[in-house]
Amino acid sequence: MAIKKIAVFTSGGDAQGMNAAVRSVVRTGLDLGLEVYAIYEGYQGLVDGGERIKKMNWDSVGGIINRGGTAIGTARCDEFRTRQGRLIAAQHLIECGIEGLVVIGGDGSLTGANLFREEWPSLVAELAEKGQINAKEAAAYPNMIIVGLVGSIDNDFYGTDMTIGADSALHRLTEAVDAITSTAASHQRTFVVKVMGRNCGYLALMGALACGADWVLIPESPPNVDNWEKVMVERLRSGRKAGRRDSIVILAEGARDREGNYIGSSDVQRILEEGLNEEVRVTVLGHVQRGGRPSVFDRNLGTLLGHEAVNAIIKAKPEDEPLHIGIKGNRISKLPLMECVKNTHAVAEAIATKDYERAMDLRSSSFKDAFRTVRTMVRALPHSPAPDQKRFRIGVLNAGAPAPGMNTASRAFVRLGLDRGQMMLGIQNGFEGLAEDEVEEMNWMSMSGWASMGGSELGTSRRIPKGSDLYAIARTIEKHEINALLIVGGWNGYEAAHQMYNERSNFPAFDIPIVCMPASINNNLPGSELSIGADTALNNIVDAVDKIKQSAVATRRCFVVEVMGHWCGYLALMSGLATGAERVYMNEEGVTLSDLQKDVSRLTQGFKQGKRLGLMIRNEYANSIYSTSFMCSLFEEEGKDIFDVRPAILGHQQQGGDPSPYDRIMATRLARLCLDHLIEQLEREDDDVSFIGLQGGQFKFHDMRDFSRMVDMEHQRPKNQWWMEMQGIAQLLAQLGPAEKE
Ligand code: ADP
Repeated sequence: MAIKKIAVFTSGGDAQGMNAAVRSVVRTGLDLGLEVYAIYEGYQGLVDGGERIKKMNWDSVGGIINRGGTAIGTARCDEFRTRQGRLIAAQHLIECGIEGLVVIGGDGSLTGANLFREEWPSLVAELAEKGQINAKEAAAYPNMIIVGLVGSIDNDFYGTDMTIGADSALHRLTEAVDAITSTAASHQRTFVVKVMGRNCGYLALMGALACGADWVLIPESPPNVDNWEKVMVERLRSGRKAGRRDSIVILAEGARDREGNYIGSSDVQRILEEGLNEEVRVTVLGHVQRGGRPSVFDRNLGTLLGHEAVNAIIKAKPEDEPLHIGIKGNRISKLPLMECVKNTHAVAEAIATKDYERAMDLRSSSFKDAFRTVRTMVRALPHSPAPDQKRFRIGVLNAGAPAPGMNTASRAFVRLGLDRGQMMLGIQNGFEGLAEDEVEEMNWMSMSGWASMGGSELGTSRRIPKGSDLYAIARTIEKHEINALLIVGGWNGYEAAHQMYNERSNFPAFDIPIVCMPASINNNLPGSELSIGADTALNNIVDAVDKIKQSAVATRRCFVVEVMGHWCGYLALMSGLATGAERVYMNEEGVTLSDLQKDVSRLTQGFKQGKRLGLMIRNEYANSIYSTSFMCSLFEEEGKDIFDVRPAILGHQQQGGDPSPYDRIMATRLARLCLDHLIEQLEREDDDVSFIGLQGGQFKFHDMRDFSRMVDMEHQRPKNQWWMEMQGIAQLLAQLGPAEKE
């Protein structure tokens, strides 16, 4: 028998992005013809029943996607921890006829859900025995179908790369640490910043990586020496001597020493004050990390997982195990909830029993990589090269339009290279600088403070070398004896590398290993699902659109927002998904007059039904004839006195701003991989020209010869655009209501 009624609730600690998940569950369910209920205040609502279990309609979840917290409330509920509480909860679900549950919560809430499901048959039997439900009801509910999504800022759950809320929490954390860093640097001060994470150092570790902190303490890996206090003081002191103006220590709330004793912020403060003989300030970030608007990543993650949860419920049979739905390598992953809960607890147990090796082992490879990288980056000075080591001269340049994260990548690449004993060269102003001999040898402090800076400090240019440039570039490479080159950039950078490869027979100086790292807000590079800068740009767009939407609350107005991306609709589609835009226009699909006619009549119908705001997002090159101003005039004319229309061309604010935490983390990871790759090439005396990218969770280097095969040259975008799959969900959720399809 097909399922008819489902319910969704949020439980435990709130997390940004929960609203997007609830919205997605409700609308996907309604679209499939289900009745959807929201249980307010988590398990408490389930135990209380009555008013707390509300039937939802399409508009009940309107206007919540951009809000932090959870619109349907959350609570901690001690009654649900008892069998009696769970018995009442089961009775309420049966009374309402609910057959499937989507639970959005943390580790505790999902543990509770798992237990509830295990006990379900016995709960039903007990209710029947006590006469609280009749035999027919008991037979109709052999089991409850449960799907769990993790909403937790800690990113502490097994079976998903990211939990809903972790990215937004990192946004809050990096904003705060960046702010503290600027005041600390002004006064040459030392700060201890305490962040959330009882059994998971994710926020502390990624925060340290993203902000260029000087020391980090996490629960999974206590300092591996007993005199860690002395080592930390020594490291900070020598950092100052080497020229650092600030010292920032990030401490996870669950950090401990090897004996398992908690390390508090006041402990670190005292140790540093005594050791450094200066005043040390403490900032405890606390609930700031949980608050505020959800990031684009969390909105879209919540949306995708919520959509998938409903699809999983309707496909499930009552006897099926409860599922956890998460994301692995940028793709949806489904695992038995039980297995995930068990493995999540295993980390906490390993930490509690001081088996830190196992705790670290249970973490993902990106966590371990990040830890390794942070340990290098916090050094006051690099390791000295071994006496017999062959040292290479490796250059880095930025190419194409600036993308937030270019500085983070350049800094990480140079520091990691110096630490491996290489000589690192910074090339200013892209290929123009390379042609004009703007090359400088970098030291450990040359790029200090760059981790959090937007734009391109090295300088970039759009020039693709041709003719006499090639000769000049070859001369610079020979003069500075550049053995290998990293190009951090977008389409132009890739084309330039391609060009150098093709010109090898004329210029032997180009016979060096070259690697391109994808850095472009357009996210239009082959072999890479996400390029550095795109996440920041998306957040910039969504910030602007949220504000634009607020400006229009009282009027019936439609906005046509034009976003960048050249011929690639990534920014348009993903910002449309994150803001709940009714329509996204992209070059990939084109725009026709009949599309526009349909859109006008939909808008008119919507406004007549009481809608107050329309939002259309248009990729800048969606169609050269049906421009933003054309669309606005058309809608305005057709909308007459029903609604008015305003354009918003977001322009270069999309390219600017400090890089988002995701872009910083990605830039750092790629920098390490590119460096390893180039050194390997040099040691093997190879000279491949390649580009790196992340696909399906795997990093891969592609031969530059494959570039033209993998792209649509005319539209400067990859042939394979994985994110186009999201279009269906974006359209579904932006409908006027479930009836629209008919
Ligand atoms: P989070 O879900 O954010 O980890 P909690 O650990 O506080 O937050 O759990 C939220 C709620 O989930 C609890 O108040 C309780 O109602 C329920 N819950 C947690 N653990 C269990 C458990 N072992 N058995 C039954 N219910 C539980």
